[in-house]
Amino acid sequence: MDILLLRPPPMSDAATASESIAFRDLGLGDAVLAALAQVGYETPSPIQAATIPPLLAGRDLLGQAQTGTGKTAAFALPILARLDLSKTKPQALVLAPTRELAIQVAEAFQRYAAQMPGFHVLPIYGGQSYGPQLSGLKRGTHVVVGTPGRVIDHLERGSLDLSQLTTLVLDEADEMLRMGFIDDVETVLKKTPPTRQIALFSATMPSQIKRIAQTYLRNPTEIAIKAKTATAANIRQRYWYVSGVHKLDALTRILEAEPFEAMLVFMRTKQATEEIAQKLQARGFAAAAINGDVIQAQRERTIAQLKDGQIDILVATDVAARGLDVERISHVLNYDIPTDTEAYVHRIGRTGRAGRSGEAILFVAPREQRLLQAIERATRQPITQMQLPSVEAVNDRRIGKFKQRIADALAGDDLAPFRQLIEQFEQERNVPAVEIAAALARVVQGKQPLLLQAPSRESRPIDKPRFEKPARHEQTSSHARDKHQDSSFRRKPESSAFAPADKSPGAGFRRDDEIKQSRLHRDDRPRQAEAGFETFRINVGNDHGVRPGNIVGAIANEAGLDAKHIGRIDIRDRYTLLDLPEGMPEETFRLLKTVRVAGQRLLISRMSDSTEPTRTFDKLPRKPTFKPPFKPAGHKPKSFKPGGFDKPKRGPHKHKKDR
Ligand code: AMP
Repeated sequence: MDILLLRPPPMSDAATASESIAFRDLGLGDAVLAALAQVGYETPSPIQAATIPPLLAGRDLLGQAQTGTGKTAAFALPILARLDLSKTKPQALVLAPTRELAIQVAEAFQRYAAQMPGFHVLPIYGGQSYGPQLSGLKRGTHVVVGTPGRVIDHLERGSLDLSQLTTLVLDEADEMLRMGFIDDVETVLKKTPPTRQIALFSATMPSQIKRIAQTYLRNPTEIAIKAKTATAANIRQRYWYVSGVHKLDALTRILEAEPFEAMLVFMRTKQATEEIAQKLQARGFAAAAINGDVIQAQRERTIAQLKDGQIDILVATDVAARGLDVERISHVLNYDIPTDTEAYVHRIGRTGRAGRSGEAILFVAPREQRLLQAIERATRQPITQMQLPSVEAVNDRRIGKFKQRIADALAGDDLAPFRQLIEQFEQERNVPAVEIAAALARVVQGKQPLLLQAPSRESRPIDKPRFEKPARHEQTSSHARDKHQDSSFRRKPESSAFAPADKSPGAGFRRDDEIKQSRLHRDDRPRQAEAGFETFRINVGNDHGVRPGNIVGAIANEAGLDAKHIGRIDIRDRYTLLDLPEGMPEETFRLLKTVRVAGQRLLISRMSDSTEPTRTFDKLPRKPTFKPPFKPAGHKPKSFKPGGFDKPKRGPHKHKKDR
């Protein structure tokens, strides 16, 4: 195996490893480069710089990269650059663990192919009816992005033809393993032409993934991003969970209630710097944007204004802020999480200059949690959750400021003509002075409301996970995008069985067998669901050879529920009890009844609707489940083997996890 290990240079103001490389140096072709200019990426992220050339050269690739590093573009761009648009059978297939990721990856392809007329990408995933997928496949598509179970279904029906496939991407392979899809992945792998190129991306490399790589990848280029360490100890680092459109509100609140001298706000794209700077200006802040498109003279003028206090907020891309050294910058705010830890270290190094202390704030979308952990590991410093100033605190400050403006004006000596005007108005219109003052205050305030409204239920990041409606769309659509944005607001409950309490390396990402241990609670007492959860009963159990991963995979994909929001799973002999967040929509509930796991219909029912006591279902002599310390002598639990679990039984019916 070739080892291409990127080792970023030691921390300095010098360009980071990938910054010296431009997209046009990577051999991508004009159409893709034009689309990249349109989306506003300035430079390739490290994983892109390392991955694109070998993929363009047709090589297999094993990439260790997490979400948020830009890995989607790392495989999508070379795929697009090598496509033959005149062919209508799929030339690339991307396998993704969840329908959300499948939709997101398909949307990314669409964005990067904006300058390639006639290009088609089709997401196919469980939970969506077959009709649109079948017609999409029939019409012809260049790229398919799918969840493993549904891809197998189409292969079995003969509706997906992989004979022309040149590239297979396994995205988030370890997540597919964790969700119980690895057998399906291997089935798909075996059905692809032997000549195809494979790119396997995984955040971690458990042994099963390494085995797949060793079995199926041919002399792959191996890429890992070696994170660098050490951030300055004089910088306090905090994060806040927020995503999408809610980031601007969070930023506004911070700007209003957090004492700061000057703030540098980092965005991923040039367009976003302009957009956010304008929105901040409209909200009354002294803000300006700099990005790679801003000419040097203008950039210098803006920085001079930041230095002398004419502006307080600079909204910038990584490239534009390179080497920036302004003592006044008390805060760095990462509006978009950087694509690599090196960029993060570089960004926050813009504060805490000249021996001062500094503040670094990071906005993290729930699905970027792993990147947050990677940053913590790389910087070897804790990043603590910040307290966002309350609405009351912000409003108190706004009122205080407004009063101060009145007091300042009253202290001035140029009020005489105005006093006369108001007295006149008072007499002519017979309006009390306080009413006139209120009207004037309204004029002064302009369109911007004086007080912040407490966020509505809809718009604030919620504490409890939410269900999505089952997807009903075919191609990527704005609806899909909205849903995705909204769903990214779902947060894990602290009690979630998947909640990564531990932040040590590798934590937050448990192995299948660990999940099984933590989830198996063999107990005949009536089960009390944890707060925010409801207990359901499903019709598959140990006797059907089911594993937690199968259940998690099926439920996650069909109910549009992030795996980490699935609570306790209690597998008994003939059925399973599982806790799901309260508030499952009826439509989702109906859909789940039809899903199959381990060849069985789930036949999900609410425990609260059940008239039968739980234990009557389980009267048959039991096979002990995994409880190693209490194993009966001489008995080996059916599903447990030292070092792992038995492969699931794959009888005449196969698993139908995400179909
Ligand atoms: P991913 O790791 O593929 O989920 O990408 C994370 C985010 O980074 C997405 O919002 C991308 O649009 C963005 N992104 C990817 N590549 C770049 C780049 N070279 N410059 C700026 N943003 C990027």
